Amino acid sequence: MQSRTLRQLSLAAVVTATQLFFYSVALAHGDGESTETPLWQLSPEQIAAQVNVVRGGADLTPKSWPNGAKVAVSFSFDVDTEPVWMGFQKQMSPSYMSRGEYGARVGMPRVMKLLEKHKINATFFIPAMSMLLHPEIVQAIRKHPTYEIGFHSYVHENPLDLTPDQERSVYEKALAIFVDQVGKRPVGFRSAAWDLTPSTIKLVQEMGFLYESSMMADDRPYQLIAEGKDTGLVELPVEWILDDWPYFQVSWPSKHVAMRNADDVYSIWKEEFDGAYEEGTAYILTMHPQVIGHRYRIKMLDRLITYMKSKPDVWFATHEEIARYVKAQTSE
Ligand SMILES: [Zn+2]
Repeated sequence: MQSRTLRQLSLAAVVTATQLFFYSVALAHGDGESTETPLWQLSPEQIAAQVNVVRGGADLTPKSWPNGAKVAVSFSFDVDTEPVWMGFQKQMSPSYMSRGEYGARVGMPRVMKLLEKHKINATFFIPAMSMLLHPEIVQAIRKHPTYEIGFHSYVHENPLDLTPDQERSVYEKALAIFVDQVGKRPVGFRSAAWDLTPSTIKLVQEMGFLYESSMMADDRPYQLIAEGKDTGLVELPVEWILDDWPYFQVSWPSKHVAMRNADDVYSIWKEEFDGAYEEGTAYILTMHPQVIGHRYRIKMLDRLITYMKSKPDVWFATHEEIARYVKAQTSE
């Protein structure tokens, strides 16, 4: 056994991995009895097949960023409005809905004002239903042709609740709304709640996306490998430490640790930026207008951007710009 590596074990049947996945989902949800083998009784090959459904490939950090920049900085705003409560948190009371509405009414205007003040681009991931519930959001973003809008589900549904066929059909429905509202197809995919099923990456490939942004195998842009093969997708990785939700949003499972002092979060995000700057890689920060859009938090973001701009050679870019750039560098 010792002579075999995990990578070699990845050659084991992926069908087994998919079955294993749905078995574990069924267990997690307590759905009835299963006659499947418990995880601890599976062979190393079967476990490795599950691990290897999607893996990180080569680091795609280029030798240099455009115009000699030392770091690529990209802000994404997930404009989830009400669907994040409905689809993922499964909360549909008027009070929860109002928290999502705050993101559209108050958060988005503050975010837009801040980006305009600093003259930097950003990427907005928006569920199709948020586009329909709040058409003014896409209209406001489209006034800035350099801003990017990425794909982010239909109603922030949890992909782990879906079969492969359901997942395909919900993405097709969401994509049709996206194209209708935005006027073009998206190039970036971010799954709701950053979770993926074993089928998701195959769907993302088939739908012709340039990049994916829901995974966490690196701090740097990287190649996405599925079932041992290069998908051709650029992964722009995310991290919970670079996300406003767990620090500030009161919701399961972080009910008792949210409501952080903005200075704490500033120091974490600043240190992460300093690290990315020293390493010459990328810094991708995910925020939600309904979270970061509150007064004291938007002030902290203003302070962070001001700090970043005080350093020389920082490239503020959309996710699409970064993905296109690293892809072009690696194709040369
Ligand atoms: Zn989201």
